[in-house]
Amino acid sequence: MNRVELHPGCGHETLRAWQADGPPAADRLVWPLFVTDRDDACEPIAAMPGQHRWGVGRLREALDGPVRNGLRAVLVFGVPGGAKDGRGSGADSPGSPAVRALAALREAYPGLLLIADVCLCAYTDHGHCGILQSDGTVDNEASVTRLAAVAAAYAAAGAHVVAPSDMMDNRVAAIRAALKTAGCGGTAILSYAAKFASCFYGPFRDAAQSRPAFGDRRAYQLPPAGRRLALRAVLRDVDEGADLVMVKPGGPYLDIVREVRDAVRVPVLAYQVSGEYAMLHHAAAAGAFDLRTAVLESLDGLHRAGAGAVITYFAPQALGWVR
Ligand SMILES: [Zn+2]
Repeated sequence: MNRVELHPGCGHETLRAWQADGPPAADRLVWPLFVTDRDDACEPIAAMPGQHRWGVGRLREALDGPVRNGLRAVLVFGVPGGAKDGRGSGADSPGSPAVRALAALREAYPGLLLIADVCLCAYTDHGHCGILQSDGTVDNEASVTRLAAVAAAYAAAGAHVVAPSDMMDNRVAAIRAALKTAGCGGTAILSYAAKFASCFYGPFRDAAQSRPAFGDRRAYQLPPAGRRLALRAVLRDVDEGADLVMVKPGGPYLDIVREVRDAVRVPVLAYQVSGEYAMLHHAAAAGAFDLRTAVLESLDGLHRAGAGAVITYFAPQALGWVR
């Protein structure tokens, strides 16, 4: 019997706020943060002007201003520089930039909601999101076991929310079980439930250095026209115990955001992805429109479609704009 729990979804002040729908506001913005294992780094990401890969030693430089301006949540991505292997061992090693960043952020910003992206692609030598069989296809069971261990490690390091982005089958139930076993049963799960195989992720793969060495991710991410499959994925993940669900990308999939909002009773997050960020940035730089006006309109669209919170690289700027 599948017993869904409600407590993890209201264990933090920001999560409680997200249980209510509302207009775009500072406390409904999540900033994705790339953390490298070079502690003193502040590396500009060429494909995403204005964004950086930060070292653990410089996180305060990245976050003091935004937190002072009202930032309530970050989504942490580890970007390892060291050796990679077939099972992504670096994802939860003690030196993992994600593990170290979560611990440092928990101490530096006690009120900030820490969401940890859980995936293997930045840590595997083949760049895929799971463990592969000898024929190059995904071994779902081995992948899910490994992802659950990584999620538990991130929860133990300080994440309030673990966010599996791999799109393996039935990983939410496995993560829930692993969190309980690890004594982290109060940690919430944000499932990247409706994650489409999108070309809009291009700049991100440069930022996270997670481009697949061969093939693509269409065997486990959703086909862009797969509306019904997306709904099945979301309903399955909620049934397995997801406390929040995500639609990714956001802007090109507003209809999916609305359908998911109407179909489930958990908060729905939309991810305004790197390609959307780059489009808006470059169009504004070319004089097509005013950046602030365009970003606010894009956020209005995502919230109107049903997003209770939006993950966006514009978060530090938009904090002031949405006031
Ligand atoms: Zn991945």
